Amino acid sequence: MRVGNCVSCGQGLILKGSTLFTCSSCDNKIGRCGDCREQAVGYACPGCGTSGP
Ligand SMILES: [Zn+2]
Ligand SMILES: [Zn+2]
Repeated sequence: MRVGNCVSCGQGLILKGSTLFTCSSCDNKIGRCGDCREQAVGYACPGCGTSGP
């Protein structure tokens, strides 16, 4: 299984609490690590630019 990278900080999604979901506007996979989720770091889809909290 291939792991992605956090779109906010770029680290691999290997830590507990990391998540990977599909963008609501395009089919890009958006990864977020546990750290960025915990700190509510914003993200932007690398494909279409949609951003979220
Ligand atoms: Zn991160
Ligand atoms: Zn997108």
